[in-house]
Amino acid sequence: MLSDKMQKALNDQINAEMFSSYLYLSMAAYFAEQNLDGFAQWMHVQAAEENAHAMKIFRFIEQRRGRVELRAIDEPQTEWDSPLAAFEAAFEHEQKVTAMINDLVALACEEKDNASCNMLQWFVDEQVEEEASADDIVQKLRMIGDKPQGLMMLNQVLGQRRAGGEE
Ligand code: MG
Repeated sequence: MLSDKMQKALNDQINAEMFSSYLYLSMAAYFAEQNLDGFAQWMHVQAAEENAHAMKIFRFIEQRRGRVELRAIDEPQTEWDSPLAAFEAAFEHEQKVTAMINDLVALACEEKDNASCNMLQWFVDEQVEEEASADDIVQKLRMIGDKPQGLMMLNQVLGQRRAGGEE
């Protein structure tokens, strides 16, 4: 059985992952409006992955005979100054999520909840990838600066991302 404390913390993480999904959907809408369909595609795949993260924890709580409690999802930002600003925000957001995962792992250890601890290790690894992929795009956008050809090229590369690819 999950402790009350662990159950509440995992429910909070479901909410955080759902918010991540919402944030990236909002970024997808922003990019679509900017006619950057490749960037938008990348964000759609990212949003779907965040939803899958939430479901992974959802199923885990169920398996442990805990109780999932869904709460309201915060309203995401809808506008950014530039593609770079949006990806900087995504990178910053992922760093926050990493800190949340680290806190969850610490709590699982404190509660001597090895099953939660093990399940969360997947998220520890996942966050390394999430931060790296957002940062990689930030760096590329900085290199591109205000050159439209570079932006178009990156748009084409990001548009190749498909669901079920690298997570
Ligand atoms: Mg996530």
